[in-house]
Amino acid sequence: MELTSEQVDIKKAAREFAEGEFRERAKEFDEKEEFDFSIWKKACEYGFVGTFIKEEYGGHGLGYLEHSLISEEFWRVDPGCGQAILSCTFGSEMVQAFGTEEQKKKYLPPLVRGEAIISFGITEPDAGSDVISIKTRAEKRKDKYIINGSKMFITNGCFANYMLILCLTNPDEKDPHRRHSVFLVEVPTSGFEAIKIHGKLGIRASNTAELALNSVEVPEKNLIGTEGRGFYQLMDFFNKTRNHVAAQGVGLAQGALEMAIAHIKKRKAFGGYLSQFQGLQFQIAEMATRIEAARSLYWRAAYSVDKGRPDPTLISMAKWYAGETAVYVANQALQLHGGYGYISDYDIQRFYRDAKIVEIYEGSKEVEKVIIANELLKRVF
Ligand SMILES: Cc1cc2nc3c(=O)[nH]c(=O)nc-3n(C[C@H](O)[C@H](O)[C@H](O)COP(=O)(O)OP(=O)(O)OC[C@H]3O[C@@H](n4cnc5c(N)ncnc54)[C@H](O)[C@@H]3O)c2cc1C
Repeated sequence: MELTSEQVDIKKAAREFAEGEFRERAKEFDEKEEFDFSIWKKACEYGFVGTFIKEEYGGHGLGYLEHSLISEEFWRVDPGCGQAILSCTFGSEMVQAFGTEEQKKKYLPPLVRGEAIISFGITEPDAGSDVISIKTRAEKRKDKYIINGSKMFITNGCFANYMLILCLTNPDEKDPHRRHSVFLVEVPTSGFEAIKIHGKLGIRASNTAELALNSVEVPEKNLIGTEGRGFYQLMDFFNKTRNHVAAQGVGLAQGALEMAIAHIKKRKAFGGYLSQFQGLQFQIAEMATRIEAARSLYWRAAYSVDKGRPDPTLISMAKWYAGETAVYVANQALQLHGGYGYISDYDIQRFYRDAKIVEIYEGSKEVEKVIIANELLKRVF
């Protein structure tokens, strides 16, 4: 599979933007656990944010593959900054797929213009992978729903203007897959509180928060999609966003590989450079091959979504394998930096810490394998 010339140009422009706008400041953001959102605004102005949002809703009308290509390039330069910028539309995929015309016209254009941030609260303190078990409750009262509960580990929880919340609306429904619904809460609002989580292992430029929802009122018209169909809507949503996460893993691995190659070409040992040793060359070859395989997987997976035939097996393969590749390559890259990697090279250390998230969020690697296996076992060969 080859990229079109337009996709190649997007990738190149994204790389230049990342190199010019945040490479130099990545360490500062990581240390301070914060981000300069003027960079996000600039990314919006340059057209890197919300590329998959349709033109009639203010977007660029491109595919999810283009968004993933931008993710790869941003994460190649710095995962934390890449996440801080591109996660600002996390949830818009749900609004675009299931929102009413009125909701799409109201909520999508500000995300592309850099005027609003959307976030999605799915995970709870006692329910992550087992999403069916969430307890946050939305109860209908006349033309409103009242939400009570809590959400955990929510990206941009402190900054979101629009917060999607997965809630239990039909707890007595026999089929547990038909008990949930998604609401869009405009924040700030009474009863909504976001508390920043400090001290994450990685992607520290990106905000993560715990949410408390105490009798939060949301108008009935802010139901996204159909009551009781939230779980199915979520699966559709993950088909799109897991490609982005796969692309994040590939970008991170590519950045770590490049750092490792640069290091062994200048590090002298045994009368030459480390790069002359076949053992190290084999390591580089293996890292690069895994990256290329993960890249091919996410391109194909994103292509399946853009063609309107999402393939959950391929998508889960891409997400799982890209996560493993990110962790493997970052580990090897740090190893090739030796003591300098462990002690003083902040960039490779940061990539090593950042890599692990790709194996955890939006479906841990085990959950991805469960999806792959379930699909395969259903097939007749
Ligand atoms: C930085 C960060 C940002 C996040 N952003 C968001 C966000 O914006 N919105 C949101 O809703 N959530 C977000 N999350 C939450 C994330 O999606 C969850 O952490 C993830 O889904 C795993 O859930 P859990 O942490 O509850 O782990 P658990 O479900 O408790 O699982 C723990 C581990 O058990 C294993 N495991 C679980 N289930 C199975 C199984 N069936 N078979 C085999 N092994 C299994 C896996 O190794 C898993 O990692 C974020 C998390 C982090 C760390």
